[in-house]
Amino acid sequence: MKSNKPGLNTICTHVGGVEDKEFKGAISPLYMSSSYAYENVDIKRYPRYFNTPNQEALCKKIAMLENAEEALLFGSGMAAVSTTILAFLEQGDHIVLQKTLYGGTFNFVSEELNKFGIEYSFTEGFSETDFISAIKENTKVIFIETPSNPLMLLTDIEMISRTAKERGIITMIDNTFATPINQTPIDLGIDISIHSATKYMGGHSDISAGAVAASEEHIQRIWNKAKNLGGNLSDFTVWLLERSMKTMAIRVKAQNRNAKKMAKWLEKHPLVAKVHYPGLKSHPDYQLAKKQMRGYTGVVSFELSESADTGKFTEALKLVKRSMSLAGVESTILSPIKTSHFLLSPEERSRQGISDGLLRLSVGIEDKKDLIADFEQAFEKVSEEQFEKI
Ligand SMILES: *Cc1c(COP(=O)(O)O)cnc(C)c1O
Repeated sequence: MKSNKPGLNTICTHVGGVEDKEFKGAISPLYMSSSYAYENVDIKRYPRYFNTPNQEALCKKIAMLENAEEALLFGSGMAAVSTTILAFLEQGDHIVLQKTLYGGTFNFVSEELNKFGIEYSFTEGFSETDFISAIKENTKVIFIETPSNPLMLLTDIEMISRTAKERGIITMIDNTFATPINQTPIDLGIDISIHSATKYMGGHSDISAGAVAASEEHIQRIWNKAKNLGGNLSDFTVWLLERSMKTMAIRVKAQNRNAKKMAKWLEKHPLVAKVHYPGLKSHPDYQLAKKQMRGYTGVVSFELSESADTGKFTEALKLVKRSMSLAGVESTILSPIKTSHFLLSPEERSRQGISDGLLRLSVGIEDKKDLIADFEQAFEKVSEEQFEKI
């Protein structure tokens, strides 16, 4: 039977706007009001109650994209992550987290949870055995992030859902890298899907926001915590995010295509030792990627061969800028050991498989030929310098 649900592009463009009844404008009017006349005691509109007209409208779009009943918006990805984790854990509870996680999530867990008397464990790896052996009697939540940053390793989402359901454990996923365009974890049994909307949902490097999608019951529980912690998103940014999300499906699909082409091109380059991209047959999780993802994202990590210097290479790039963040329409590049993973000891980095030559490329929507030309001239520059040294 064919589903009546609109396709991803149509949801992005049409679902969940605020209707302009008065002037019939094409876009959502922006309600900046922080004060609303009350109709009855049940409906009190207020920005920190997460129920202003623009917030409610955009949440409908996000919920439908994630195949969730409801969604909530936050002021940052970390507001979404921290509020959601705290909503499901009480003193004496335990949370199992995947070994490799976004740095901010790792810091939140390791610096804050003790204060609430909440226990946590990180898994040794990504396998079923790794997760099962980390589960304890008081485990209430399993938290995963797939694909993970920066090596683009995957966790089997269905395996996690099954393992957790058998034990009555709630599952959360950080779905930022994949986006609902490439991966809908709730369809695979995950309870709660979390986003840094600062990345692909925003997509233009000009918004800080977060989002959570889940069942009505789970969103109610997160809302109860969210109104106390107060991490709501300003309505102006909600409005900007709605504008961004209208093009999310076409942006992300273009980024998927460009990234796959760049990954294949890099794999053949003599100065590249290794490419990490789940859409490549050489990636250890290629089969799993085909099973649980529709596209393989715009992020490609690769290792320069030992003879090439990452600093000189990234400096030589002209079109592709060095940047801490990712997922914009413009391509950016970063050296994990100099930025995101700078504070880790060399031993810890090598345990996580992060080599000195590793670079993380966030592929934008430029023409492939221009990206390749930029990479080619930068590779030429580093190989000339090597030649001079000899
Ligand atoms: C950026 C990011 C976050 C945190 O989001 P902010 O908007 O910076 O708070 C969380 N998870 C992942 C995977 C991210 O890339």
